[in-house]
Amino acid sequence: MRMMKNAFLAGAALLLILSGCSNNGETEAEADGGKIKVTSTIGQINDIVKNVGGEHVDSAGLMKSGVDPHLYKASQGDIKKLEEADLIFYNGLHLEGKMIEIFEKMEDEKPTIAVTKDIPEAELLKSADGYAEHDPHVWFDIELWIKVTETVTEELSNYDKENAGEYIANGEAFIQKLEELDQYAEEQISTIPEQSRVLVTAHDAFGYFGEAYGIKVMGLQGISTASESGSKDVSELRDFLVDNKVKAVFVESSVPKKAIEAVIEGAKEKGHEVEIGGELFSDAMGEEGTEEGTYLGMVRHNVDTIVNALK
Ligand code: ZN
Repeated sequence: MRMMKNAFLAGAALLLILSGCSNNGETEAEADGGKIKVTSTIGQINDIVKNVGGEHVDSAGLMKSGVDPHLYKASQGDIKKLEEADLIFYNGLHLEGKMIEIFEKMEDEKPTIAVTKDIPEAELLKSADGYAEHDPHVWFDIELWIKVTETVTEELSNYDKENAGEYIANGEAFIQKLEELDQYAEEQISTIPEQSRVLVTAHDAFGYFGEAYGIKVMGLQGISTASESGSKDVSELRDFLVDNKVKAVFVESSVPKKAIEAVIEGAKEKGHEVEIGGELFSDAMGEEGTEEGTYLGMVRHNVDTIVNALK
């Protein structure tokens, strides 16, 4: 008798679930075409979500090409996108330094996930300039970005168990491409003569890249663009270029070019010609719809630009 009662209750509960619809007879997910809504901060994370989420996810990124995440403040439109999302992904490690309070608020309402949360601390680089404890630019170590892809896959699968199998398959396919890219970067960078493997950029975004591929990196500004470069930094970097006969320095799409141009000018006055080796995508990806507007294309562009200028 008791068992029958439980069976009845289970049946009633099922009916309740089945009838848990909104006014027009559709559940919220059905109204969105069955897609879950994900909002990410930087394009690099949005790119993972698109690759892993595929047709089941409606993915939006807040920061477009050329945008600096260190200084970024959320607009009213961004807040709306965050409020409407089912899930939020951000980099963490203090990259989005001006959005921390918003994430704390969103955490109470919905899954709000720092995608770097599963990276063991030992694999994070220390931040040299005291801006934060760790260097947040982890996407330049492709092995760490694979770990981040696994975290995103797991979170999507937990949220939407019905489609977990697809997320896992998509995640594996994307990781395969990341592994190929990692190998490509390693092969290409190794063609630069060892004494020329010096990457000078506008800010310290390439620490992980340097560690991964054996290239010395120097940035005019520190880990964050929030710290201004002083005239001492400019003269130090200028002397480094002159002393080490560095051929080329690089500008970044999300950082103003003025400061790095001052360094080039300074070196010229000391009789050493340095050229701009090209524009790198550091904290922001390229325009949407272009090759560089994807993570794979952005990294390939950077590797090719660096190799062409320094080889
Ligand atoms: Zn940065």
